[in-house]
Amino acid sequence: MIIAIDGPAASGKGTLGKRLAQHYGYRHLDTGVIYRAVAYAVLETGGDLHDEALAIAAARAIDPGTFGNPALKSHEVGNAASIVSAFPAVREVLLNFQRQFASEPPGAVLDGRDIGTVICPDADVKIFVVADPKVRAQRRTLEAQSRGEQADEAAILADIISRDERDRNRPVAPLRPADDAHTLDNSNLGIDASVEAAIAIVEAVRGKR
Ligand code: C5P
Repeated sequence: MIIAIDGPAASGKGTLGKRLAQHYGYRHLDTGVIYRAVAYAVLETGGDLHDEALAIAAARAIDPGTFGNPALKSHEVGNAASIVSAFPAVREVLLNFQRQFASEPPGAVLDGRDIGTVICPDADVKIFVVADPKVRAQRRTLEAQSRGEQADEAAILADIISRDERDRNRPVAPLRPADDAHTLDNSNLGIDASVEAAIAIVEAVRGKR
């Protein structure tokens, strides 16, 4: 079984997807990390994030061994990721890696922005996670503070809004729910309740088959 988790609030740095994968004994891929790794590689070389050739080269050289680098979690790298991820050729380079990951047994949970629409359009269950941008800004601020980073909630909120807008309006693989996605609004849910709600969606879909 493949479970696709998309949406502006899909990640929370992979926690929902990770917990869902643990519950079902599946492998988990937080695809945002891939775009973050590409952006980070460009930044590391002092390159311009808007330079498509540099971003493509970084995507080709991607090393999954670096996905655990804590530097990828920062808010700045997240914003940078949303710039390089808008290049169609960058997405193209990263497509096979994601599809390959999804296809291996025993099953997989992938979270991102285009899993249900582009990467795994035949995913068994698609969940589109949304939350009030103010609540997301609060969560990101707390996360950043817990990592010891300085965090300005108002600035984070402004970034969240502009990043969502960039993700929604890009011509390739824009952020949108697949027609057969189930929306999960977790504005008022903690992580445990979000996981339970996601499991309920998966079970409801499985029960209907
Ligand atoms: O989910 P996360 O915050 O790590 O994603 C960072 C950025 O990477 C997103 O804002 C989006 O631009 C990009 N992304 C994407 N497609 C995915 C996952 C992330 O374009 N499947």
